[in-house]
Amino acid sequence: MENVLEKILEDNRKYANYGQVASYIPELKKARQDDLGICMIDMNNVVHTAGNYDKKFTIQSISKPIVLALVLSESDWEHVFSKVGMEPSGDPFNSIMKLETNNTKKPCNPMINAGAIVTTSMIKGKDLKEKEEKMLNFFRKLAKNDNLKINYDVYESEKATGDRNRAMAYLLKNDGFIEGDVEEVLDLYFKQCSIEVDCVDLARMGVNLASYGLDIETGNRLIDERISRIVKTFMVTCGMYDASGEFAIKVGIPAKSGVGGGIMASVPKKMGIGIYGPALDKKGNSIAGIKILQNLSEKYKINIF
Ligand code: GLN
Repeated sequence: MENVLEKILEDNRKYANYGQVASYIPELKKARQDDLGICMIDMNNVVHTAGNYDKKFTIQSISKPIVLALVLSESDWEHVFSKVGMEPSGDPFNSIMKLETNNTKKPCNPMINAGAIVTTSMIKGKDLKEKEEKMLNFFRKLAKNDNLKINYDVYESEKATGDRNRAMAYLLKNDGFIEGDVEEVLDLYFKQCSIEVDCVDLARMGVNLASYGLDIETGNRLIDERISRIVKTFMVTCGMYDASGEFAIKVGIPAKSGVGGGIMASVPKKMGIGIYGPALDKKGNSIAGIKILQNLSEKYKINIF
């Protein structure tokens, strides 16, 4: 298996040359364009790795489904979905447009920035510190890694340059989708995006979602079965932003990407996959990562459709 993964990685390495490392968050420019790594964990807890699987990078938008799971676990679902929708936007992840043109002005879904900022605003806690700790501990629980931490250089870099997110957040507050202090919500959002992970962490979270929320090592319940279903459904319909339709056709696996270059994939009842390849396509998805998932989907017949 390790050899198969190595081969798939090598076959797709060339695609990194066609993509670009994210630069709108200055700190992300430091990534190496040609890094490529993968980890696959199956339901028997067998871990397969290849390439730069232990390289650290920031989770970015892959935090969105996880924070959604946290919020759904502590809030009334009807309330949550009165503030954020369930439909793909068909727009880029950082688009502000539909906040004005949608009838309801509600963000389309929790996988785009506007929707994710709303979900983050619903994390409960007496102050920012408590919310931050709860958020980080939830990631640690799902990734089974107590060492997960925030990369403060990336966080500072995002905070300093995140005016587009800031604009959206203030608009969302104006329209009643966010309560409380907008800067605090943004602070928490920038922190969740700046959590450092590697491919193993992503694969571990992916496999625990693939098992419908059961820790595949211990059998303990980590998240509610129905929540794991909602999260995977959002990953299918909105996980790759405005490339989600094409990805569903070509790959057919619930997946979530981030501009740090990561992709977390979750094949129900089969496996979790974590990929790192920081060269992105125009839509902000790892260019080699998508090709690798396409190859794996075909080779192992793991297309869920
Ligand atoms: N932190 C990034 C942002 O808000 C996340 C975007 C992404 O990964 N697509 O712009």
